[in-house]
Amino acid sequence: MGPLLSSLVQLQTIESELRKTQQRLRLARQVVLHQEYQIKKLQEASIAKKEEIKLTRVQHDKLEMELKTREEGINKLRVALNSARTNKDYSTILTQINTKKADKSKLEDQILALLGQIEADRGIQKEIDENIEKERVRLAEIRKISETKQREIQADVDTLLDQRKQASRQVPPKERAIFERLADRYDGEVLVEIVQVSGPRREHTCGGCYMGVTLESVNALMTRDDVVNCPNCGRILVLDMKPKQQPTA
Ligand SMILES: [Zn+2]
Repeated sequence: MGPLLSSLVQLQTIESELRKTQQRLRLARQVVLHQEYQIKKLQEASIAKKEEIKLTRVQHDKLEMELKTREEGINKLRVALNSARTNKDYSTILTQINTKKADKSKLEDQILALLGQIEADRGIQKEIDENIEKERVRLAEIRKISETKQREIQADVDTLLDQRKQASRQVPPKERAIFERLADRYDGEVLVEIVQVSGPRREHTCGGCYMGVTLESVNALMTRDDVVNCPNCGRILVLDMKPKQQPTA
């Protein structure tokens, strides 16, 4: 491998390492974001539960009012019952009282059920709020660990950026431009090794897109220090990714 291809292999090696390291940095940040998201979801659940309790409370108060009205009605009927003049009147009023009493009993059951619901919801809300506190403590720990990690990885990224700048200078401008363009398109995977397919015909394929590569291209790489692009995906083909010769300065 000549100096041109060696310089490209070296640039590729650093580029790959840099992208991997940048990805590690993103992951270290994401751990914190994920934990923040978990807390946000719990907070939303707590607010929703609070709102639910409020609505149940309104419904409960409404039924309490109804119950009071019903009780007043029964009391009035009792007074009327005592002053009933005929048996018919008496029995009519008694029926009314019994109907109202049945209604009242139904209301009391409903009120009791609502109170039970409020109590259960309060328990759930308390649990959510306790979880929020626990997750907040965890967030503080996660953040601390992540920040230390991010600083370490950032130092690696800075070193690699520096190395890439230097490696990039070793590549002639034309090939450097090709590399940068392909790096954008293929997420940093610019150089690919040629793969020899097992089988009677021993054909060669591009290690990136797995389309056929002519023997002519393989021979060119063996004999010349030129950039050979894959005819299909356009990536730069190499016989292997280990530079055999240090690029000239
Ligand atoms: Zn290809």
